[in-house]
Amino acid sequence: MRKFEKPRIVSSKCIEFESCRYNGLIIKSNMVKNLKKHAEFYPVCPEVEIGLGIPRDPVRIVGKEGKPQMIQPTTGKNLTKKMNEFSNSFLKHLDDVDGFILKNRSPSCGIKNVKRYYGIKNTGSIRDGVGLFAQMVKEKFPDLPLEDEGRLRNLIIRENFLTRIFTLAEFRKIKESGTFNDLVEFQSRNKFLLLSYHQEHMRSMGRLLSNANKPLESIKKQYGKLLLQTLSGNPKITSNINVLMHFLGYFSGDLSTEEKSFFLENLQRYREGRIPLLVNLNLIKSWIIRFGEEYLDKQTFFQPYPKDMMQITFIYDKMDK
Ligand code: SF4
Repeated sequence: MRKFEKPRIVSSKCIEFESCRYNGLIIKSNMVKNLKKHAEFYPVCPEVEIGLGIPRDPVRIVGKEGKPQMIQPTTGKNLTKKMNEFSNSFLKHLDDVDGFILKNRSPSCGIKNVKRYYGIKNTGSIRDGVGLFAQMVKEKFPDLPLEDEGRLRNLIIRENFLTRIFTLAEFRKIKESGTFNDLVEFQSRNKFLLLSYHQEHMRSMGRLLSNANKPLESIKKQYGKLLLQTLSGNPKITSNINVLMHFLGYFSGDLSTEEKSFFLENLQRYREGRIPLLVNLNLIKSWIIRFGEEYLDKQTFFQPYPKDMMQITFIYDKMDK
């Protein structure tokens, strides 16, 4: 059974950690609650860190696009400098982390769609802002997984986020103390996962490892950069189909014509969005067991993150709304 490294995640403290919202409340998130046992969390509340109490008068983003100011309307205080200084110093001292889960729509932590007011007294606003803390996270860690707890209710977004943080956590361990062989093994186990994200990058990573003459540290550094780039997008349906067709190739000589056409029919249904990827994956998994295909059995594509996070994905969608 695969043992997963614990991803290091920075999160907004008000999500499942502390009742530190401006109104003294806490935000519930089943996803974060369940992830706690599989990850190392670094919860932070930027507003409390800059000296605002709990409860407190709310702050808001005010001003022109690209020049956001953090204002507390009741006191008229401009907290922009304080918040930027705190964010900079907190993020600068972060050890290697694998991702961020921030509170949606907050003037500090919101990663998108934050209300930007036209003036301090003005009640008119547009939802195109980014929280000040979140903005600095984006600038300092542009390639790391960054989501808010609202978006993580979406199955596809959540699966992508979990896949990325657990893959990056495993690589971080190898980067810290792994050998060249560990890196080769990592590439081999993740081959089809990487292929689903970015075919060209996956091949470049393979080529990098075929040049064993370079110093290991330099290979790890280059490989890490490529890995971040590879995982920065979302796998497309067509890329997943490409991977599934590769899998079919492993078994086509052993399968009956009926079995192959059943698989291809399901592939078409997946292409049309009528069934999830999991249906086809389970079919292939059954062939792996039947034909004892060890190389495919090790592929992380089949289980990129812990099983219990996978099983409850559908329940989340019902529960969190
Ligand atoms: S959204 Fe951010 S600043 Fe606001 S309470 Fe939560 S952690 Fe604190």
